[in-house]
Amino acid sequence: MIAEISDLQFSYGPIKALDGISLNLAEGAVGLLGPNGAGKSTLLRILLGFLAPQHGQGRVLGFDIRLEQARIRRHVGYMPEDDCLIPGMDAVTFTAYFGELSGMPRQEAMKRAHDVLFYVGLGESRYRFLETYSAGMKQRLKLAQAIVHDPKLLFLDEPTSNLDPQGRREILELIQDISSKKDIQVLICSHILSDIETVCSDVVILNKGRLAAQGKLSELRELHYRLYEIRIKGEGEGFTARIKALGCRVEETEDKLLKVYVPAEMDIREIFRVAEGEKCQVRHFVRSRTSLEDLFARAVGVD
Ligand code: ADP
Repeated sequence: MIAEISDLQFSYGPIKALDGISLNLAEGAVGLLGPNGAGKSTLLRILLGFLAPQHGQGRVLGFDIRLEQARIRRHVGYMPEDDCLIPGMDAVTFTAYFGELSGMPRQEAMKRAHDVLFYVGLGESRYRFLETYSAGMKQRLKLAQAIVHDPKLLFLDEPTSNLDPQGRREILELIQDISSKKDIQVLICSHILSDIETVCSDVVILNKGRLAAQGKLSELRELHYRLYEIRIKGEGEGFTARIKALGCRVEETEDKLLKVYVPAEMDIREIFRVAEGEKCQVRHFVRSRTSLEDLFARAVGVD
């Protein structure tokens, strides 16, 4: 178990950022989703022991978030959303400094700094001052400082912010590599579903300081589809085969009702064209919603 929390509450003065969150984070790569202001960063800061919740308990890698913050930081890497870079420093010094802050001896931190900078693709630029770095290089460097002390668990807060599509792809590939090959558990915080899709197996969705949904990404994927209930007259095997070929996923219930997941980009009129081509009569055609889809729509504030 990466983390277990129960009834966490946190307010910044009158602003309630977390309003009673309980969850267990399973091993693997987990995406923490939700719109801006949902409470994601606050939750990460509490899990790291930077903020003490006004109410509730929690454990990260088995360590108590109120009592064992130093241990948590030794085993957890954190890539913050904000720029944490120190002007006038080069990347090696900066990365080694974070290694020392996590409890590594200086020499070991320096050696690891070189290694991780090569790993994230900054080997050639490791002696350059940080203020000369591009947005993509800064993100890589933030990732390097988060893994310098060889953590068991990595918290990434909006790791692709300010990146162009190419930079975004590259940083996601690195994260995927860390998660799959280096045996590091990863919690990625993002307001963009596609950011975590390639990397995560599970997701947690926050909305307005509350847990809106939690589950396997494979279930959440259905959200990219619109769900329709369709009933056609007769057998309709040709109809089903043809709409499957167009990218729809079809489940047939016992009473011959078809649950059809239509890809978001597909024109719904295609279904009727297929029915016409197959000489099938559509008897029933109703838009349906999964409960998870409802939750997500609410969480991200779209209908
Ligand atoms: P997210 O990371 O999902 O965008 P945050 O955890 O940053 O959400 O914020 C949750 C709520 O707490 C928001 O309403 C935000 O405005 C508020 N908040 C966050 N940080 C502070 C702070 N330092 N002082 C006051 N309010 C804050």
